[in-house]
Amino acid sequence: MKVVQVKCPNCEQIIYQKQKDPMFLCQNCGTIHFRDASGPHKVPYEIADSPPSAGQRYYLPFWRLQCHFNIRSRNVEGGFLHKLSASFRGGDNGGMLYIFVPASEMDTQTFRRLAVSLTTSPPRYGARKDFNGAERVPTAMTHDEAVEMADFVAVTLEAEKPGTLQYLDYELKVQEAMLVYLPFINTSGGPGLAL
Ligand SMILES: [Zn+2]
Repeated sequence: MKVVQVKCPNCEQIIYQKQKDPMFLCQNCGTIHFRDASGPHKVPYEIADSPPSAGQRYYLPFWRLQCHFNIRSRNVEGGFLHKLSASFRGGDNGGMLYIFVPASEMDTQTFRRLAVSLTTSPPRYGARKDFNGAERVPTAMTHDEAVEMADFVAVTLEAEKPGTLQYLDYELKVQEAMLVYLPFINTSGGPGLAL
């Protein structure tokens, strides 16, 4: 495994890290950054604390996208976004939601399962400062790629309720992105959230 050496853009500490993960974590100040042609970029992130549980825990990265959505069609009935917008006062057919985009390498079925379950019921957790010795799984999706996936996740949510999709006309804007590390354990059905 090739190890690369970069400087933390916050505290200048040298970071040695396996090249597999483009998200560089500074052990000195805790800053996470990635680099592209225009230089280093700091990444806002959170690590969810996990209660003690059986099994080997590991942390999967997700892009949590704070989105504003607006349903253009007033005839939409059913579906997740409609229900969400109906829960807001004012009835402007819009609202806010957090879309969770799995950011590590995984099969399509697991991607859909995790994106849908986390977006429809956002996890509640206390934050912690480190990974508590657990593995941090590499991020395989950039911020920009995650933003492009937001619509796909929204469509996947709506497709959970067959028959409503063709009536849906909405606009989705990503306003903020944060990298969120959530603890998982392996179960017979794949990665299981350990919160
Ligand atoms: Zn640093």
